[in-house]
Order: sequence, then structure tokens, then C-alpha cells
Amino acid sequence: MIDLRSDTVTRPSAAMLQAMMAAETGDDVYRDDPTVNALEAEAARLSGKAAALFFPTGTQANLVALLSHCERGEEYIVGQQAHNYKYEAGGAAVLGSIQPQPILAADDGTLPLEVVAAAIKPDDIHFARTRLLSLENTHHGKVLPLDYLAKAWAFTRERKLALHIDGARIFNAVVAQAVTLEAIARYCDTLTICLSKGLGTPVGSLLCGDAAYIERARRWRKMVGGGMRQVGILAAAGLYALQHNVARLKDDHDNAAWLGQQLHEIGVEVVDQQTNMLFVRLPAGQAEKLKAWMAERDVLISAGPTTRLVTHIDVDRAALEQVVAHWKAFLQQ
Ligand SMILES: *Cc1c(COP(=O)(O)O)cnc(C)c1O
Repeated sequence: MIDLRSDTVTRPSAAMLQAMMAAETGDDVYRDDPTVNALEAEAARLSGKAAALFFPTGTQANLVALLSHCERGEEYIVGQQAHNYKYEAGGAAVLGSIQPQPILAADDGTLPLEVVAAAIKPDDIHFARTRLLSLENTHHGKVLPLDYLAKAWAFTRERKLALHIDGARIFNAVVAQAVTLEAIARYCDTLTICLSKGLGTPVGSLLCGDAAYIERARRWRKMVGGGMRQVGILAAAGLYALQHNVARLKDDHDNAAWLGQQLHEIGVEVVDQQTNMLFVRLPAGQAEKLKAWMAERDVLISAGPTTRLVTHIDVDRAALEQVVAHWKAFLQQ
């Protein structure tokens, strides 16, 4: 199977499974799991934050991040298409009584600071209290420019807001900008990272922040059922991924660019390609047929007027050559 629906479909490699089998474990609710402790220390070190916390999913990490920043009746400003607004089942509102204030992102994935400024509520009993600006990096494959992050950071200091980055794919930004994680994370108070996307682990996310914040988050994580026990077997996969699967994200970016070029050459309308995501626009009615055609040939894609194709560790150039050949045959029938 060649699966281009998402980078969440990656499977643990033999070497990663070996690392998981060899993991030392303990009860992480007692903070006794040495492998979890090592992963959290490594995430803190890489991000330049004082502490980090391991989670089963990015959704839970983002939820706990919001619960640890905002109290009942407070709000966060967030992108209209952001994962922690649109794709997390309204968790912050449902479970935290936290009001989202969504705004439209610019074409480059940033939230324009003048629009953010206009959305901040004055101190008035009619309004929720604005507490937090939440950015997403990468956002639909787009890397947020460092000079934007620097401005957002200064802006939030001035306006007394906290700044969170949903960095589910932050390492794609790290590799694309050829910087360290710390060079990005210095512009936020807190950061979530997914290990289970392009980094290729079966499970796991991290939340990084200062020590007091991570202590608050630890209580919220327990409340939402994320306090796990001998979870070093999963943390070992995360440590393996941080050591072996970061630099290779460049291959995914190169492959997405290559695929975009090849599809363009056979007449497919390429809308955008950045990092490991390629967006193509298909004529009305074609998407479902293409999806079925590909599925018969062991290629999985999502169908839509705009189709997102995602490259990752389990799809190499040879696999993409097959995809292009199948696509060509589809267009020629
Ligand atoms: C995938 C993703 C998450 C977290 O998703 P989980 O499937 O819960 O791990 C959060 N934010 C973004 C931008 C994502 O792409």
C-alpha cells in the first residue's frame, strides 16, 4: 500500500520496535518511568523550555495546553482552520468552558497581528477575558516565517497574552528553515509536538513550557485520563524518532516537491506545495473516480475538490513514480 492521505499513517520501523522492546519502564504517574523522563528531558532541552510532558495524542496535548493557559470564561485567539479550533471536537469549549475566538489566517498561514489586535476584548463585564494567542506551525504545510514569530512574540508581551504554538509538525518547519527547534520555540511560551506524524512513532505527543506551567498541565492531564503507567515503551519510540527521523523529513519535502512537479507536467493543477504537503485541484466529479482508480492499484488518497497528498517516511521516490504512472494512465483512459 502507498498511503498519501496523511503522515499519521506511518508505521514503526523494525529499529524503532527494537528500541521499544528494550525500553526500561516504571509507573509514570509516580514519575518512575526512566524512558518517559528521558524523552521529556530531551524535548525540554531541544525546545529550550524548562520542562515537557508526554501525552498519548496531540489533541489531548493541545486540550491540556489550553486548560493550563485559560480558565473558565477566558478565551484564546486562533485560526479558523486551526486544528485546536476546528478539528478537536470543540474540546476547549466543551471541557474547559474556554471560548475560542477564531480569525482568518493569511495565505502564508500566519494570523495577521492587526486582526489579532482587533479581536482582543477590552476589560469589560460583557466580554470573555482574552488570554492566549494560539498559532499553528506548520499550518497546512506552511512554515511560519521567523520574523513573523518574533513580531507575534513581542506583540503578545505588550498585550499581556500568552503565546502557544501547535507544533504538531514543528520539525518540518525546523528542517525547512534549517534552524534548531529552540530558534522557533524561543518565540512561544508553550509548544505541542506530535511524534506520530512525520516522525513516525505509533503514538505520542509532547507539551513544552516553563516548570510551573507543566506542573499545572500534569494535573489537567491526569484529569482528562492521560496519566499513563509503563509508557516508556512508547516514549522509547519518541526518543528513537528524535534521534533518527528528524533530518530525513527533508526527503519528504523533496518528494512532495518532486510529485508536484511531475503531476504539473501531466496537466494536474497544483495549488500549493510546502514542506510535506501537496495540494492539487481536480475537475468536478474527478476526485472520487481517481480515488477508486488509485485504490484498485493499492494507492490511498483522500478525495475532494482540493486533494491533499502527504509524503512521509513510508513513501519513497520509487513509490511516487508508481503513483505518477497510475495517475497518467487514469488521465489517458
Ligand atoms: C495531527 C494534529 C494534531 C494532533 O492530532 P492527534 O491525532 O490527536 O495526535 C494537532 N494539531 C495539528 C496541526 C495536527 O495536524
